Amino acid sequence: MSHSPKNLVILGATGSIGDSTLDIIARHPEKFDLVAISGHKNVDKLTKLCEKFNPGYVVISDESLYLQLAENISNLNIKTKVLAGESELETICTLPEVDMVVAAIVGSAGMKPVLATVKAGKDLLLANKEALVVAGDLVMSAARESQSNIIPLDSEHNAIYQCLPDSYIVGETPRSVDKIILTASGGPFWNKPIEEFSHITPEQACAHPNWDMGKKISVDSATLMNKGLEVIEAYWLFNMPINQIDVHVHPQSIIHSLVCFKDGSLLAQLGEPDMRIPISYGLGLGNRLTSGAKTINLLEHGKLDFIEPDYHKFPCLRLARDSIESGGTAMAVLNIANEVVVDAFLNHKIPFTSIAEINQKVLEHVSIEPVSSLEQLLELDIEVRSLTSQLIVN
Ligand code: NAD
Ligand code: MG
Repeated sequence: MSHSPKNLVILGATGSIGDSTLDIIARHPEKFDLVAISGHKNVDKLTKLCEKFNPGYVVISDESLYLQLAENISNLNIKTKVLAGESELETICTLPEVDMVVAAIVGSAGMKPVLATVKAGKDLLLANKEALVVAGDLVMSAARESQSNIIPLDSEHNAIYQCLPDSYIVGETPRSVDKIILTASGGPFWNKPIEEFSHITPEQACAHPNWDMGKKISVDSATLMNKGLEVIEAYWLFNMPINQIDVHVHPQSIIHSLVCFKDGSLLAQLGEPDMRIPISYGLGLGNRLTSGAKTINLLEHGKLDFIEPDYHKFPCLRLARDSIESGGTAMAVLNIANEVVVDAFLNHKIPFTSIAEINQKVLEHVSIEPVSSLEQLLELDIEVRSLTSQLIVN
């Protein structure tokens, strides 16, 4: 039996998750119609993607690049309409014909379109964890109201989702579950002596041992802030208290996470560290699609290790847990501060060790409120960015 194709939007199509998503779409052209794609600044890549995939719309969120992109597209003689500016991201996600949105923007810049997607009742395939860390409260309650399905693409959360029964709906507390265990590769500095941390360069931090990813998440993986953000992400997606969310360092990145059930059973999802596996599971909405990923050969690996995380070496993981306990806007404050400090580190303005130090200072300086509205979060964003920048300079 043939099904009609799903109408899809990809936010952040020019990035690493965008690449993996488009790779799967290209393998299943009969299953997906690309309604729209977005990118921030990469005009050449957006042009190439339009030429190859012929989407209905392309959005360049940096408005100043509109003319350049529009000229390229008009030279191609394709039907793609060119839009520019941040607010058009919301436009494409909420078009009536759209079924599902892949949220693959990096950072809280993705928060507004993610919220708009969920409010419009569309399926949200979420890679953009920062959007959920900042606006988890608003996103999850909007999803409950509109009955929008959220499907996690982040490999750990996708693994947990795969281990839960088919009837499970993201946002509910899963039944009969004692704990979830997020695995962490430990990043490139797991075994590095802490005394050497202040000399770590952005190039070293971006060279992840197992995964090939964007720069921001690579640095987050090196500080273990990525795992901290993922604990917060799990807290929102699976509606579980923080003491039921554990982290195990698992350097081989073969087991992507585990669910511990009340009867003593542990279920895990295993696979090559290839994002096409979780993304294809999301795109297929539970029906498995070929993804191009290899099946793992366990005999080649032999053994798998699990180690307690080192909170002393990686204080960002502790900060993330603390921010859940503080509640309210604390998670948003931590995430926003972290975006600014990671950018400063990537631009050689601060040493690696300052990332955690400044994040902690910002959390101590900003007063934490209950989350009430998107406007409140947008104001907080401005306040925290400016405070963090001051702390970076001083
Ligand atoms: P990336 O840097 O490769 O791509 C980011 C995308 O976001 C690009 O398309 C870029 O144009 C767009 N973008 C950047 N700034 C923007 C802005 N201000 N406004 C609008 N668009 C903007 O990042 P990535 O590695 O693909 O990661 C994307 C998201 O997925 C992140 O939240 C990351 O944490 C998450 N994620 C990534 C991986 C991975 O393997 N890469 C795994 C799990 C989760
Ligand atoms: Mg992950």
